Amino acid sequence: MLGKRRAARNREALDRLLQERSNSQCAECGEDGVSWASANIGVFLCGRCASIHRKLGSHISKVKSLTLDDWSENEVEHMKEWGNKRANRYWNPYPRDNPPPITDDDDLTVERYLRDKYEKRLFRGDNGDYDERGSRRRNGDSRRKNYYEPVSRRTASASHTSSPAPQRSKYPVLTGGPSNPKDRFTYRRELSRLEDMGFEDMDMNIEALKAAGNNFNRAIDILTNQSTTPNKEDSPPPSLPPRPID
Ligand SMILES: [Zn+2]
Repeated sequence: MLGKRRAARNREALDRLLQERSNSQCAECGEDGVSWASANIGVFLCGRCASIHRKLGSHISKVKSLTLDDWSENEVEHMKEWGNKRANRYWNPYPRDNPPPITDDDDLTVERYLRDKYEKRLFRGDNGDYDERGSRRRNGDSRRKNYYEPVSRRTASASHTSSPAPQRSKYPVLTGGPSNPKDRFTYRRELSRLEDMGFEDMDMNIEALKAAGNNFNRAIDILTNQSTTPNKEDSPPPSLPPRPID
């Protein structure tokens, strides 16, 4: 057990993290308001998604209440280091191909999504499921209705094939120079999506979109493979199983 004062201090630190908009909405379904978190994955969750996380087992996700449980300094630090935005960019870097559930989806749909995401790690894109441009199908845009169709095939192929990790040299190096207003207008939709995904440097985003010939997934690859900026996606995944409590 933590001392009362330490517990209170850690809870305040958690409250501060919740002031970030991305952390105040459930990492899985986007529901406004979170009261739970996965201490090892580093995501903040609504009550429903937290109970499904718990079903995955504590070796996958260690679910804690933000208000009822005590949090150690290490755990709070881990939540600060990850958080919803970074964790989702790590675990589901191509949300267009693997659309997250919405609040209205039933529990089974959410559970299958979470098992694919964390247990099978299907969305990571490092097990041969994606081509080098980060797309599952060349011109395909897998929509929610056929989302589950490819699962068994993907699972089967994932165990037999593997592709080498992307090489940095495949991606152009961005200079981060100032963009011009015309490009900001031309790429306004893509820029807004990139910003939603956590790519906040507009000049770099425009440069990447131009270098990618306006191929959205390719632009993301370029942005996440810049060696000049710290690339958090390359760091090791959240530790599984979780660290022991102090
Ligand atoms: Zn949720």
